[in-house]
Amino acid sequence: MLNFEIYEGFAFQTDLLTFRMECTLGENQAQAHYDPQTHLCLLRLPADFSFKDRRNQLWLQKVVREVLRGMAKRIILPRLATFAKQYGYTYRRVFIKDLSSRWGSCSEHGNINLNLWLLLLPSQFVDYVLKHELAHLRHLDHSPQFWQEVDRMTGGPGTAKALSKAKNDYLRKQVQPLFMGAQAS
Ligand SMILES: [Zn+2]
Repeated sequence: MLNFEIYEGFAFQTDLLTFRMECTLGENQAQAHYDPQTHLCLLRLPADFSFKDRRNQLWLQKVVREVLRGMAKRIILPRLATFAKQYGYTYRRVFIKDLSSRWGSCSEHGNINLNLWLLLLPSQFVDYVLKHELAHLRHLDHSPQFWQEVDRMTGGPGTAKALSKAKNDYLRKQVQPLFMGAQAS
């Protein structure tokens, strides 16, 4: 789906979350600190730190993943609970995972998995994904009955598939360049 490479100046902003990185050099060992109040992820790095180094990339990705995981718990889980209550669903556990090819999934045991990169999307698409996964608690397939159920939650006939398409457009036009654009500079 996405190649999540993190380069200097990686930043994004949606109506749910702002994230920006600031680097200072001169440390012996790379350190990261995220302040949820200022939305600033402060990286203290060794002077010779290279963003292109493979091991550094793995560390940077881990830093961003951990920030997103923490923020997903604060931002996304309450939204899911609200929708479940509103539309009459109960689920067992929610796991926030680094999923490479999907935004979420739902198990037959009533557990929901959500991709921690979901927070790169604005609320209308996050909410669509949450409602999509809730609907899978009743319909484990993508049958017409499933889409009818998502439509019920998203505003009426046809809205679910329209949101899904708009989400994919947003992903291609707004999210993908966050990573590719930074890479080019
Ligand atoms: Zn599905």
